[in-house]
Parts: sequence; C-alpha cells; structure tokens
Amino acid sequence: MTEINLEVEESKVTSKVALLDLSREALTEYVQGMGQPAYRAAQIWDWIYKRYALSFAEMTNLPKALRQRLEDEAIVSPLGIVTQINSLAKDTQKVLFRLPDGQTIETVLMVYDKRRTLCISSQAGCAMGCTFCATAQGGLARNLTSGEIIAQVLYFARYLADPAAEPRVDVERPTAVTNIVLMGMGEPMHNYKNVWDALRRLTDGDAFGLGARHITLSTVGLIPMIDRMAEEGLQINLAVSLHAPNDELRAQLVPINRRWAVDDLLAAVQRYIDKTNRRVTFEYALMNDINDSPELAAELGRKLSPLLCHVNVIPLNPIPDSPFQPTSDEDTERFVQILRDHGVPATVRLRRGIEINAGCGQLRQSTTARRAA
Ligand code: SAH
Repeated sequence: MTEINLEVEESKVTSKVALLDLSREALTEYVQGMGQPAYRAAQIWDWIYKRYALSFAEMTNLPKALRQRLEDEAIVSPLGIVTQINSLAKDTQKVLFRLPDGQTIETVLMVYDKRRTLCISSQAGCAMGCTFCATAQGGLARNLTSGEIIAQVLYFARYLADPAAEPRVDVERPTAVTNIVLMGMGEPMHNYKNVWDALRRLTDGDAFGLGARHITLSTVGLIPMIDRMAEEGLQINLAVSLHAPNDELRAQLVPINRRWAVDDLLAAVQRYIDKTNRRVTFEYALMNDINDSPELAAELGRKLSPLLCHVNVIPLNPIPDSPFQPTSDEDTERFVQILRDHGVPATVRLRRGIEINAGCGQLRQSTTARRAA
C-alpha cells in the first residue's frame, strides 16, 4: 500500500511582509505598528480588494513617505508572470505565475457568454499522484499561502476591470470575475486552512465580495475534510473527482483511494448533502478503455442515483507520454446516456484551451520541458 504523506511544510519565502496574507485586523495592527492611524489600513485594504492595486505607487491617497516605507518592507502581489497565452478563440487565457521562492503555478481565465470563470491553484504541485494528471508528475513543492491564492483572483479581476489591459481579446469583456473554481494545481483539502482563509476573504463583502455560491472547491476526496467543510457554513460548491465507481479501478487512477475508499467517500458526500442540502458535483474524466465502458457507467449510475448530485463528464486532456487517451465522442454520449437512464443528471464539460495546455499542470510541464531542452 502506498502511503501518501499528508503533512506539508509551510515555507516562509520572503522577508517582506506579504499584505495579502494578512487579515484585516492583522493589517490594521501592522499599519498601527508603523505609527500610522488605523484608517490608513482601511485605505490600503480598499486599494487591494476593491481597486485591485498591484503596487503602493498606485495608492495615491497615502502619504508619500508611507508609500515609500511600504515599498521597502512589504509586497502587495507575490506573483510575477512567466508566461501568458491565449487560446485561438481568445476565450481562454492562461498565466504561469512565479512565486517569490521561484515556484510556479497556473491560473486559467475562461470567458463565456455571461460568466468569467477563473480556475485557480491551491498548491505548488500536488501530492495526490493521480496517474492521468500532469500536476501529479512533479509531486508537491509546497502549500500556497492564502495571499498567493487570492492574488491569482485579484490579478484577473484587475485585468477584466480594465478595458485597456493587455492582452486585448476579441470577445466583449465584462468587467468582473463571476465564478471561481479551485481546479488548478493542487489539492485544496490538503491545504485546508490557507484555502479557507482565502475563501473567507474572497467571499467577505468588505474584501473581494464574490458570492460563495459562485465558487467551487474540487477535491480528490479527503473524507475528514469533506466533513469539516460541511461545518463551515459558507455555501461554497463541492466537487469530488471520482473517475471510477469502484475501489479496484479508482485506486489505479487516484491513489488516495487506498486510504479513503469509494463507498466511504460516497457516504461522506451523503453526510455533506444531509448537512448542507447542497447538490454535489462528481467529476469523471473519461479515458478510452479504462473507465468508459457501459458496465462502469451502469455501476456509477447505481451508486450515485440515491445522491443529490450531478456528474460532470470531462473529456480527458491527454498528457505527453501518458498511456491514457480520451474516449471518443460517441462513447462519451453513450456513457452520459446510461447515467441519465439511472436518473443521474450528467453533462459533458466543454473542452477549453486544449491548444494552450490549459489542462491541469500542463503549461508548467511544457515550460519546464522547454527549459530542459
Ligand atoms: N486536486 C483537486 C483539484 C484539481 S484538478 C481534484 O482532484 O479535484 C481538477 C480536475 O481535473 C480533477 O477532477 C482532476 O481529476 C481533473 N484532471 C486532472 N488531470 C486531468 C486530465 N489530464 N484530463 C482531464 N481532467 C483532468
């Protein structure tokens, strides 16, 4: 049995004070510690969370000397841009960011008719080891801080709010991030505290102020953390990456299944539904001849039919040197139909940004490969 180490070291990566890691109270204390009145903290908070400022120079209502001091000892955004690419249709944009310690993470913006959905990372790398996932191949480097999680959102919030911001895109650009999914790099439940600190600030009306119902947390299925999430009292959506209906197959695709088995996971999801009355999404990436047979569809349909849920069938993003290939459109339709015949609502997720490696972990991987070449 493979043991997955669930302990992660927190790393302190810069000697400067990362303002995005501070709660409002902590920011106020910090500002008062510099001999400044508390309302200066309110001004800084407003610049960061309402006006998406990236530098102290922009904070023009602060005295110049204070701006200079902040410049010397603090940072607003910890993100530097390594690569930025647009899909051909210009409706998907992906950025590879560098963190202060040199780690890199990916964030993807997807522009739909009425929605602007941001797919953000919760860790640099990932420890879960899913065999079909590009992020898994490099293992886990470290947890992101709450500020590093929030910074991804603020970066794109600023981009969307500014019609002159590069890159210009063909699509009309409404002005706000409307949805956030924690489906980038990392396992959010494995960085629980920082992720929830970030979620609280992203949903706090005094901070970023996005409705919790517009945010989805996707997990490989860490059962104790699903129970914990049920108690949080925030209406964040839960998505569970299932990918197989039984232990034998799931353990091959999602190694953490050896620790938390399918039926126990489904029981935890039922407890979550009982507690929250919220519909849960199951993600199922279809892989040719691996998990896409009619028998497996029927088994999945039988197991999920009692649950208040929805299945998001994901066409596999093939990753280089991987034995896993996507299922044909025809077999995908058949799979979905069997689920529906069992009374389980199912839809196929739109494929987005395939040519820009928008799948989880793929841009970082191709950048690393190019550097190594
Ligand atoms: N660790 C979390 C969130 C990150 S991944 C989780 O596992 O849910 C977001 C989703 O993309 C997960 O369902 C994951 O299994 C899926 N995924 C990973 N690699 C993929 C690939 N190559 N093609 C399609 N989906 C993939």
